[in-house]
Amino acid sequence: MASEDEINLLVIVVDVNPIWWGQQAQRETELTLSKCLDAVMVLGNAHISMARTNRLAVIASHCQDSHFLYPKKSWRAGDSGGDDACSSGDGKYELLAVANNLIAEEIRNVMSKAEVKGNSTDTFLAGSLAKALCYIHRVSKDLEAGQEIKSRILVIKAAEDCALQYMNFMNVIFAAQKQNILIDACVLDSESGLLQQACDITGGLYLKIPQKVALAQYLLWVFLSDSEQRSQLVLPPPAHVDYRAACFCHRNLIEIGYVCSVCLSIFCNFSPICTTCETAFKIQLPQMIKPKKKKLKQPT
Ligand SMILES: [Zn+2]
Ligand SMILES: [Zn+2]
Repeated sequence: MASEDEINLLVIVVDVNPIWWGQQAQRETELTLSKCLDAVMVLGNAHISMARTNRLAVIASHCQDSHFLYPKKSWRAGDSGGDDACSSGDGKYELLAVANNLIAEEIRNVMSKAEVKGNSTDTFLAGSLAKALCYIHRVSKDLEAGQEIKSRILVIKAAEDCALQYMNFMNVIFAAQKQNILIDACVLDSESGLLQQACDITGGLYLKIPQKVALAQYLLWVFLSDSEQRSQLVLPPPAHVDYRAACFCHRNLIEIGYVCSVCLSIFCNFSPICTTCETAFKIQLPQMIKPKKKKLKQPT
């Protein structure tokens, strides 16, 4: 059994890429962004209700930035937020009402204010994960003496992988591994090689859900349990991990390629200058090798 004072922090990172969700709404109406967030709230509420010491954070990952949906800076524990809906008196645990209202309110702000600049339609996932790690770090710094914390991150992934973020993503994964933070992934659409690697390296679970409609069920069944409870559950078999890396020049997945010796960027073709860190490689030309002076062996 976990000790009474152990804090169990779950950070949910939701991909709210407006372009992907817009297309999704046209493809099928079964799962929309608002239904996805409903499922996130169900999981979040279940997590909070499991134990008094359980903590929750929800981060929305947009195209260029990420936003905290919960908790909000202005809100503190014990604060009812001044919202009438929070004190509805229907016997609902107040914290759940506060969390749900904040998430709903913040996602409306994010989706109406944040705009898509430029051509990039990729989700800012590496940045959101870094934000999650920073938040976990801050919470663990604020602990009282004797308290322990166990943290994990759940990514709900919608849009496709962005090979441009490959390096940032890998840095985040290794930082999480070093701090014993699990990364779980619930993938809605196309398989994500980056998240497969993240889950494999940090010991988390990767699941591409077969039916999007059943998102809430998958979240509760697979992702509510923490790492210790998971060994007692019958869970989906571990996913095959695609460890191929994407080349930085064409974003193709390659098995054999050229690697920059300075920044570890991967290329499918040889280039004399690394396009990532601009290191110029010294190309070895055939040249006369000066005979080295033989060292005299000193008698011992
Ligand atoms: Zn290439
Ligand atoms: Zn380089």
